Amino acid sequence: KGAIAFKDVHFHYDPDRPILKGVSFEVPAGKTVAVVGPSGAGKSTISRLLYRFYDVQQGSITIDGQDVRDVTQKSLRAVIGMVPQDTVLFNDTIAYNIRYGRPGASEAEIEQAAEVAQISRFIKELPEGYGTKVGERGLKLSGGEKQRVAIARTVLKAPPILILDEATSALDTTTEHEIQSALDIVSKNRTTLVIAHRLSTVVNADEIIVLKGGEIAERGSHSALLEQN
Ligand code: ADP
Ligand code: ADP
Repeated sequence: KGAIAFKDVHFHYDPDRPILKGVSFEVPAGKTVAVVGPSGAGKSTISRLLYRFYDVQQGSITIDGQDVRDVTQKSLRAVIGMVPQDTVLFNDTIAYNIRYGRPGASEAEIEQAAEVAQISRFIKELPEGYGTKVGERGLKLSGGEKQRVAIARTVLKAPPILILDEATSALDTTTEHEIQSALDIVSKNRTTLVIAHRLSTVVNADEIIVLKGGEIAERGSHSALLEQN
């Protein structure tokens, strides 16, 4: 479940400046496809179109053959889990932020999700644990910590489709490894679209798409792409 298909997708924010000029690719159900390319190539735009923050101007995006424009925002968000690059958390407790993925979740399930997201040890050391408030009016978390809370939320929600907008080099190496291993666990057996900033982080992707100038310049496995370049 959750096969994604982009067919001849054209998109622009500003009519004078096309961002995507006929992009076609598929993510078979349960597989992982990574989109790489220079900054500004339109990688994050691809994830925003799938999540319908914007709609395509030409072409189509389908999930299991159904056009995303025919799906309500609510049901679309129920099948897609998004771990954005800059996670914005609610001004509430850590527990609230993780439970947002599945309101009925028990405390034990929240802890399990935090464990998978490699953030449980950090939370346990906080004076108020899972009851610690975060955000503007609470504890200030680093980018990596926020992202791991967002990963825990996604682990709990367990959606069939996952969009990962990878963390940037702003993260230190330890944090990056922790996040990477959490993401590897989360994306197993899910249809996953990774927006990658470096080829080195997507070694295990089933296919890598190189986006340049609004078009797919190259595509293939990690090893095939390394041989060509
Ligand atoms: P990437 O993820 O590959 O770095 P993006 O998809 O974020 O690229 O952006 C592609 C291009 O679209 C960039 O030139 C960016 O400045 C522009 N862009 C992104 N978001 C908007 C927006 N909301 N309005 C106008 N232009 C935008
Ligand atoms: P829901 O539809 O379940 O209320 P949201 O759409 O508010 O969920 O958010 C789902 C995920 O997408 C959250 O992790 C949130 O941080 C992220 N998100 C929401 N709006 C944006 C945005 N404009 N750009 C990037 N990520 C966003």
